[in-house]
Amino acid sequence: MFLKMSHLNKTYPGNKVAVADFNLEVERGEFICFIGTSGSGKTTTMRMINRMLTQTSGEITIDGKDIAQMNPVQLRRRIGYVIQNIGLLPHMTIRDNITLVPRLLKWPEDKRNQRAKEMINLVELPESFLDRYPAELSGGQQQRIGVARALAADQDIILMDEAFSALDPVTRELLQDLVKNLQQESGKTFVFVTHDMDEALKLATRIVVMSHGETIQVATPEEILKHPANDFVEELIGRERLIQAKPSITTVGQVMLKTPVAVTGAEPMSKALKLMHDRRVDTLLVTDKDHRLTGFVDIESFSERYNPKAPIKSVANTKIFYVNENAVIRDTVSRILKYGYKNVPVVDNDQRLVGIVTRAALVDIVYDALFTDEALDNDHTDEQKAGDQQ
Ligand code: ADP
Ligand code: MG
Repeated sequence: MFLKMSHLNKTYPGNKVAVADFNLEVERGEFICFIGTSGSGKTTTMRMINRMLTQTSGEITIDGKDIAQMNPVQLRRRIGYVIQNIGLLPHMTIRDNITLVPRLLKWPEDKRNQRAKEMINLVELPESFLDRYPAELSGGQQQRIGVARALAADQDIILMDEAFSALDPVTRELLQDLVKNLQQESGKTFVFVTHDMDEALKLATRIVVMSHGETIQVATPEEILKHPANDFVEELIGRERLIQAKPSITTVGQVMLKTPVAVTGAEPMSKALKLMHDRRVDTLLVTDKDHRLTGFVDIESFSERYNPKAPIKSVANTKIFYVNENAVIRDTVSRILKYGYKNVPVVDNDQRLVGIVTRAALVDIVYDALFTDEALDNDHTDEQKAGDQQ
């Protein structure tokens, strides 16, 4: 067995039992998700794996060796760790941040720089970012660097503690895909803490459900969904699934309109204006010649700087909010409602425009999700009560 945790207990000073008799055997290459409500002992358990915390009793072995017997520094060199607040060092360049552990391991500079390039490509950011500082990157980009750093030293085990919780839904989704792919390709073993059941179901080969320091269920995502061990697990699945009424509809691609009104940026403004007029819209999406979304123009951009022959891209607004067609509807809905977007373009993995989600379509989705049988039952009960009183 690759990683084995046997009868782990952790009691904090003051007799606070954080973890009680935790047992888990992990094969190499597994993606384990710990899920549970806040305070259930997920972080404590995870931190015992790299000896940031020492258990009160019980044993952890890697490849059959008791980690208590290993040099803690050596151990951490085998284990990468990513936390929610990323922990990039602000005064170091991205290159130096990524190669932090290889530097500790005294890799020669050539090899480190080579590694930094590989890693930044792996997490799909441009190499030019290597010379920048963390503050110059967005939260999502910084978290990608966090992932790159965790993988840079080629450690066998990667621990991630709520690493994506602070990110917006779209970025979170992208990073989940990225990490899942990296894990499948690299064969590394992941232990990933989350309180989001959607995330666990998407990433895990096995899910460990925890509550009050105890293990409630250890099973594959399929088993968890089909046979939740008890009410607690059911609730965890249920509470996290807002769109239960329509389980078949889960991604944006399933509800979007497939005919967004768009023009290519090289076309003249006169053409765009005519299109707006013909299609009765006040906003046009702008793409490049390969149909990749680059921005939008609205009627305001025209009234200020109208020049019939100038290309549309000269007035296009490139700050545009869009979602991936595979994004979970629930996240997109809340985002659209929160920010008051009228509609949101949808792109595929190559950034090509494939559709649009309108506010009107969202009303339908929310209506279907909320207007469940339960709501109907309640209405019915109210009616009866009213009748009884008469
Ligand atoms: P989770 O990560 O699932 O939210 P934790 O492992 O952080 O849970 O915490 C488990 C329990 O242990 C909680 O009740 C928490 O309050 C308690 N706890 C965590 N760290 C400490 C500490 N340093 N001292 C005392 N109690 C702690
Ligand atoms: Mg925690």
